[in-house]
Amino acid sequence: MTTGEKKPEQPAAWSLTLEDWRAQIAELGAPGYRATQIWHGLYKQLATSWDDLSALSLALRRTLAARLTLDALTVRELQETADGVRKFLCACHDGELIESVLIPSTDRFTLCVSAQAGCAFGCVFCASGAAGLSRSLSAGEIVGQVVVASRWLRDRQATPPDASAAQAALGRPQNIVVMGMGEPLANYDAVLQALRIINAPGGLNIGARHITISTCGVVPGIRRLAAEGLQFELSVSLHAPNDAIRDRLMPVNKRWPMQELLAACRDYTEESGRIVTFEYTLVAGVNDQPAHARELADHLGGWKCRVNLIPLSPVAEFDGVAPGAHVCESFQRYLEAARIHTTLRRSRGGQVDAACGQLRLCRTQPQTAETRTTEEQST
Ligand code: SAH
Repeated sequence: MTTGEKKPEQPAAWSLTLEDWRAQIAELGAPGYRATQIWHGLYKQLATSWDDLSALSLALRRTLAARLTLDALTVRELQETADGVRKFLCACHDGELIESVLIPSTDRFTLCVSAQAGCAFGCVFCASGAAGLSRSLSAGEIVGQVVVASRWLRDRQATPPDASAAQAALGRPQNIVVMGMGEPLANYDAVLQALRIINAPGGLNIGARHITISTCGVVPGIRRLAAEGLQFELSVSLHAPNDAIRDRLMPVNKRWPMQELLAACRDYTEESGRIVTFEYTLVAGVNDQPAHARELADHLGGWKCRVNLIPLSPVAEFDGVAPGAHVCESFQRYLEAARIHTTLRRSRGGQVDAACGQLRLCRTQPQTAETRTTEEQST
């Protein structure tokens, strides 16, 4: 669904790497250092218009403005919870709505970005997939989400409670997680291009180990990523200890069942040296029993990985509920006893409908807003 607004399509200035800029500049016959000035203007100065790049000649600014837009995203709405989680709802050039969530912790901000408008994978508890996939985002629309949040941080001089002065001065998120709407590995090229731009020195400069890609289990994508030799973190949404339960929760499991998925994850760790994190959403009576913990431990015991347990965030489309705290804690204890490093994520963002595609959903399907609880939910 869209807001109905149409603007002429122009590629986003944020879709180019520094090398791409060098090529553009060479093509225009301008001196090579202009590429670095543009890079600085986009990602240090966080320019909102080409006129902000005053180091460039007026003629060059005009030429660039005719080719590439700095308006690929328009902030439509900003919601905030008492605990400081902020959710940005942005409109793309064609009116598609996408969301990003800025989550503070004691000394940093993590930004959760979307890779697609909607999602085709249809995990039963995920609001992002409820209306299917509208389209994949361009690299520029993914980078743009980081720019929008960085501008906001800079303009508000927002700092997490214990941030050091140096971190505060950065005026940008320190961690990026591609865990918003959509499936990043189903939009592989644009996501990788975006992450290279976000990671590049002299620009946003967010370290690869501070960037996480989260997948529902697109095995060929995991294998392709392993072969890139990059240092990005990989999270895999597992959510089940066996194929029978995973088939019910995540249709993607029928295409790439658990054995294939876990083999790809093992290979990823071997090839990249990076430890995979398994996301496991706990749903009462479905995947939260001691027998499930045992089965999961049998799969994961003995290899380097982490498990991140997340109590289900209630969504109108799914009638499951989160288990009580003691059930979550005993599931965690069981995995820890099997020497699997396990965290239990406290849910955040529910007060701003920040969980998993909910803001977009409630703007495009107003009837779902009333039925949602406003308790703590997770992203
Ligand atoms: N497609 C990617 C990234 C987007 S979803 C993936 O599947 O990993 C990000 C994470 O939120 C996934 O682990 C997803 O399963 C989880 N999630 C979605 N809906 C949820 C809900 N209602 N409660 C808790 N976690 C949820």
